[in-house]
Amino acid sequence: METIKAPRGTKDVLGDESWKWARVLSVCGDVARDFGYSEVLLPIFEHTELFSRGIGDATDVVEKEMYTFLDKGDRSITLRPELTASMVRSYLEHDMRRAPQPVKLWSAGPMFRYERPQKGRYRQFWQADFEILGVESPMADIETIDTSMEIYRRLGLTNLKVLINSVGCPKCRPAYREALKSFIESSPGGMDSLCETCRGRLERNPLRILDCKNPSCKEMTESAPAILDSLCGECKAHFEDVGRGLSRIGADFRLDKRLVRGLDYYTKTAYEILAGELGSQNAVCGGGRYDNLAEAIGGPRVPGVGFASGIERIVITLEGQGVYLGEKPKTEAYVVTASDGLAIEASALTHELRASKIPADTDYSGRGMKAQMKHASVLGADFVCIIGDDEAASGTVSVKNMSSGEQRSFIRSETASRLLSWKEEQNR
Ligand code: AMP
Repeated sequence: METIKAPRGTKDVLGDESWKWARVLSVCGDVARDFGYSEVLLPIFEHTELFSRGIGDATDVVEKEMYTFLDKGDRSITLRPELTASMVRSYLEHDMRRAPQPVKLWSAGPMFRYERPQKGRYRQFWQADFEILGVESPMADIETIDTSMEIYRRLGLTNLKVLINSVGCPKCRPAYREALKSFIESSPGGMDSLCETCRGRLERNPLRILDCKNPSCKEMTESAPAILDSLCGECKAHFEDVGRGLSRIGADFRLDKRLVRGLDYYTKTAYEILAGELGSQNAVCGGGRYDNLAEAIGGPRVPGVGFASGIERIVITLEGQGVYLGEKPKTEAYVVTASDGLAIEASALTHELRASKIPADTDYSGRGMKAQMKHASVLGADFVCIIGDDEAASGTVSVKNMSSGEQRSFIRSETASRLLSWKEEQNR
């Protein structure tokens, strides 16, 4: 029988890597605390309707990429492909409008999209998501960009490109949509220069043609009118404030007229943060404003802005940039015994070391002392605590520093505290 493997597009994050994830998530948590976001833990599955209304039927995510199934009660359920819609649902469901605004929420966890897997693109991937709900102010847009940049700064990432654009609002976007459509229809190759997907988009969602990666679509829209030139006064002023605020905090950003979101409830600011190390899937973060999303899922109007950053992509970028994230957690002290008869003593000493927060381990397979020493060095232990026959008889433990070779003898009951002092002595 063939052994069962993990499904395509998923991966096991093993010990060599998972500690880096923990580090990234802990930096996200630290930044969330410093910026005043509170963490919410949301369901991994939701009613399908939340996403078909909250992301939009005409998007790739909803059209092609959702993991949707009927549960045993015949309800259509979807594994969440992103978090924004769930965040807004939670805000409405718990009547967070009653709280002082804005309400700032963050969450991290796995998302699911049936995409073609490649480097940096998976079917199950993790996002850290930050949202500021209940305020229209461009200062909130700036704050979300600042939040993501602070996460990357604390992690030590460099050379990130911040791209921003405005997608206008339902007042000014229709005119732009028409201008874009007529530009495409009247350009030399016309509709025929578009890829099949974009031909379908022309009527339903023409803005999406601007961010198609297909070379002929790119070429044809190269000189297309920019939405920034069609913004209404309010959207224009908002966009200018975002730019001014970003400059004021020293953010290095560029305008990208191709950066769009096709749906009506996405409003004003859209942004993306790119890292060269990622190859073709180069976005480490995507975000923007969605003032009409709450209404789209059946609530009152609740303005909002936020972003999601992919954890796998952060880790790939950290590795690509050779960022030092600290040491991988490891066994610091390994307890070695002369004979099986001392196994219970070894287990007790290991217990005491761990209780003093010294990462410790011992042997359970009755290996000889030499093999135990070898195992200690494979684990990279800094210290070996030896309970030989002499030590057992005299109530002591011999502790050897594996890098210097120095050996000290401690009274058995004082081993943990003496070892802690030795560690401190070394770190001084
Ligand atoms: P989006 O929700 O599509 O705006 O994506 C936000 C961020 O999530 C992107 O910038 C990526 O960092 C990450 N991301 C999106 N889709 C995937 C995927 N299939 N695999 C890995 N990361 C992803």
